Amino acid sequence: MHLTGRGLSDLLHLFYPHNCEGCGTDRVLQDQLLCAKCRQQLPATGFFGIADNPVERIFYGRCRVAAAASLYYFTKHSLLQHILVQLKYRGNRDAGTYLGRMMGHALRNTSRFAGVDMLIPLPLNEQKEYRRGYNQSAVIAHAIAGVWHKKVVTDAVTRNRFTETQTHRNRIGRWQNMQDVFDVTNAAVLANKHILLIDDVVTTGATLEACGSAILRAGAILSIATAAYTN
Ligand SMILES: [Zn+2]
Repeated sequence: MHLTGRGLSDLLHLFYPHNCEGCGTDRVLQDQLLCAKCRQQLPATGFFGIADNPVERIFYGRCRVAAAASLYYFTKHSLLQHILVQLKYRGNRDAGTYLGRMMGHALRNTSRFAGVDMLIPLPLNEQKEYRRGYNQSAVIAHAIAGVWHKKVVTDAVTRNRFTETQTHRNRIGRWQNMQDVFDVTNAAVLANKHILLIDDVVTTGATLEACGSAILRAGAILSIATAAYTN
């Protein structure tokens, strides 16, 4: 058997225990990120099974959403923040795989998302993806699909790099600017399908709204799921 560097490290990772990403002391086996104690410490929202939850309310009057939910409450200096930093700034894909797998279980355990046809990770700015080496939302989406068997589609919506990060504009200008950030590049794939749009965190919902609106314009039904919720 011939293994590349990544293949070999994956294989070793599978068979050898490593330290828990949360407490750093407990040994955890195989593909686990956290020990049982740290897993329980993450503040679950329960939103996946609840209609009219705070994440759905973010999008009321802005973007027609069939269902929306986040898995955990985000707070500063928390274990969840540490996991998200690992995923976004430390090249730790396992952190995203963990979050995605937990989201997959939550999605599987409710009828509210039963009609979903496919998962679309929120497209990342090309430069950011290049720097990070991956799109963290795609890592989460693929892990969801590993538990909840849905197709992941990454080539139907793109992010337009020329219209972004003009942070000094006023609020309205920023909003108008956001509307042009995402383009549907394959509307036929989306038409009449129920899309679950995936991201790591929802805060104001502006980015998800912009991407979701593009998906809706292609004639799809839209739902949204994120790992974390912060208000
Ligand atoms: Zn631990």
